[in-house]
Amino acid sequence: MTAGGAVPVPAPAPAVESAYQTALAQFDKVAERLHLDPSLREVMRTPRRELTVNFPVKMDDGTIRVFTGYRVQHSTARGPAKGGIRYHPMVTLDEVKALAMWMTWKCAVVNLPYGGAKGGVAVDTKLLSETELERLTRRYASEIQIIIGPEKDIPAPDMGTDARIMAWIMDTYSMNQGYVVPGVVTGKPISVGGTRGRVDATGRGILYIAQEACRAHGMSLEGATVAVQGFGNVGSNAARLLRSQGCRLVAVSDASGGVYNPKGFEWHELQAIKEHGLPLSQASGDFEHITNAELLELPVDILVPAALENQITARNAPHVRAKIIIEGANGPTTPEADLILEEKGVFVVPDILANAGGVVVSYFEWVQDLQSFFWEEEEVNLRLKRIMTRSFDEVYTLATREGVSMREAAYILALRREEEALRYRGIFP
Ligand code: NAD
Repeated sequence: MTAGGAVPVPAPAPAVESAYQTALAQFDKVAERLHLDPSLREVMRTPRRELTVNFPVKMDDGTIRVFTGYRVQHSTARGPAKGGIRYHPMVTLDEVKALAMWMTWKCAVVNLPYGGAKGGVAVDTKLLSETELERLTRRYASEIQIIIGPEKDIPAPDMGTDARIMAWIMDTYSMNQGYVVPGVVTGKPISVGGTRGRVDATGRGILYIAQEACRAHGMSLEGATVAVQGFGNVGSNAARLLRSQGCRLVAVSDASGGVYNPKGFEWHELQAIKEHGLPLSQASGDFEHITNAELLELPVDILVPAALENQITARNAPHVRAKIIIEGANGPTTPEADLILEEKGVFVVPDILANAGGVVVSYFEWVQDLQSFFWEEEEVNLRLKRIMTRSFDEVYTLATREGVSMREAAYILALRREEEALRYRGIFP
């Protein structure tokens, strides 16, 4: 009770914005700075196509359930649309629109000849059998077939989807066309037109970015302490590759929580937990259990958020102690948190640059599929390194020259490229 007897009212928690609000706020800030023509700005801000599909799937017990999925093409100004497909219970049209917009900027930052797209199905895959997952995927692929294709829109894996699911999409599309179309989707198994190096491409891209970020700060990557949030495709590969370069990997987490060892984990310890399929919160060993919130506030040199959106917010940003944040996930930092981190002098490498390794190698896969000519893994990794290093340098040089954050610089580069393409193409008719 307060002196006056009134019950104290807790201060309202700062609102966490939706991913789409975050994406629009990031765009608007840079569009304003670039004095973009208002009508062109409206074109660049608005998704080109939004497809919602409600489709039935026969479950193993004979019942039928209706699922909802989406495919959004934000832009096709610079080439066919490109972006992953997410299976997650919380997928919404708004989230997919945000992710599609980020894909447009990501492809532009690393200068791939693509626009941006994203898809998703609101589903908890843990509750489906393998055959139910296959039927759901094939039906969803058939439903979005009207807008995808190797010259139109090329999906790829994202959270909750993998190479096996991409193979089902490729097969479904090919069956419906009547001939094999490997280039309709990337992230496929190698035996059906996948590329070498795709599985760990996003994590490898993060490694190359970490090398450049450390170089820019006169820091050594070897011995740098690292915490990684998310232990899926992006997080686990980033963790493994950073460890292989001598980083001290002190913490990792999954949806269930995290594990922390200030002396650092060996990769094989974490690999063993992963191979047993145990949630990290149930693993036992010579380490402490921590929450995801605690992981984000650890005193480390490098923090890699590689799970979900909106993880670093106005609420926890003041407590972040990392020197460098490399955004493995899409949209892990809210705009309010960004300002706080900037004031604190934290060097944030934005998602549209940091996690572009996946789409870069997807691009290589698509090129190889179109030519039916496949490359060695060394060639894939070398070309990936070249693009990631060049893109980091372009963004870093711009950020330094214009005195802006890495995120703003990446957006400036992307928006300029998108605007140029739109101006050359003009408005049809
Ligand atoms: P994934 O499904 O393989 O792994 C996701 C991981 O996040 C899992 O370990 C899961 O346990 C964890 N997780 C889920 N909810 C969590 C929570 N509330 N708190 C902490 N951890 C949680 O997914 P992924 O492909 O690794 O994608 C992760 C992020 O990276 C997403 O934002 C995705 O859009 C982005 N991304 C992925 C790729 C790619 O090539 N896969 C490329 C670029 C960006």
